[in-house]
Amino acid sequence: MAQNFRQELIGVFGYPVDENPTVVIQDAAFAAKGLFWHYLTLLVKPEDLGDAMRSIRALNLKGMNLTIPHKVACIPFLDEVDKSAKLIGAVNTVKNDNGKLIGYNTDGQGFTWALRIEGVELKDATITLLGAGGAARSIAVETALAGAKKMYIINRNEERGQTLTDLISDNTDCKTEYIKWEGEAAIPGDIDILVNATSVGLYPDTNVPNIDMSCITNELVVCDGVHNPPETPFLKEAKRLGAAKAISGQGMLVYQGAIGFEIWTGVDAPVEVMMDALKEAFANE
Ligand code: NDP
Repeated sequence: MAQNFRQELIGVFGYPVDENPTVVIQDAAFAAKGLFWHYLTLLVKPEDLGDAMRSIRALNLKGMNLTIPHKVACIPFLDEVDKSAKLIGAVNTVKNDNGKLIGYNTDGQGFTWALRIEGVELKDATITLLGAGGAARSIAVETALAGAKKMYIINRNEERGQTLTDLISDNTDCKTEYIKWEGEAAIPGDIDILVNATSVGLYPDTNVPNIDMSCITNELVVCDGVHNPPETPFLKEAKRLGAAKAISGQGMLVYQGAIGFEIWTGVDAPVEVMMDALKEAFANE
């Protein structure tokens, strides 16, 4: 029987990209499922994105992840964009389906998966979302589509905050309200879930979002999108104040990767293997 020495290739285009840990998660998953696949971490400058996107077809890559600053800029190079990625306005996962490039956004679905694993109900939930950037957009769209009934969006930049608020109220059944973030933000009292979707607390930043922490009670679920460090100062503080749950951005990262793995391979993702691989990679941080 002829042997196959050709690996199937997947990867990520980013700039910067050195600290993106996805290779650890995906390669562990390929190995666990006995797939002769490999994940490449590729530094692609903005001016080279077109060539890089065309290389997906030319090199017969199975697909690609896109990270900062390519999630929006990659869209003109795609043949099709999935419905929720279109709503989010950004793509983080591309599948090369026999030469047809299809874009998805798995970030927000990774977040809702992390909440499901923790037993947190999104149907009819009231959420406060801190931030209105890329991560916030994906979390807002997917939590609204999952049945959240009310969402407060708190952001410093008014235009970004209002645009996201309008996007959710115009396209989903979730009622939304924009609150401008000035100084120490007061958090509405009637919420079930508080999400930090800003970059505050992302390594090496050790700050916590500037909010009135008295909102944190033993009935509030507190989540962070930041995955490095795995337990941010914000989550540490939420735990100290007795939050019902403090959910790390590591889950969002692993599960968005698990959805990508399933899109590319058609095989169920070995999520525990993927989570263990990520935890091991950060064990000595
Ligand atoms: P963006 O640059 O698109 O957005 C950043 C957001 O953070 C904006 O809303 C910005 O507010 C806000 N912000 C930044 N600094 C402050 C501050 N000091 N106080 C208040 N708000 C602030 O970034 P992304 O949305 O792409 O990423 C945000 C975070 O999410 C990053 O830490 C990233 O690592 C994480 N992330 C995690 C993922 C995961 O899988 N776990 C996936 C994707 C992202 P303003 O608009 O006012 O400037």
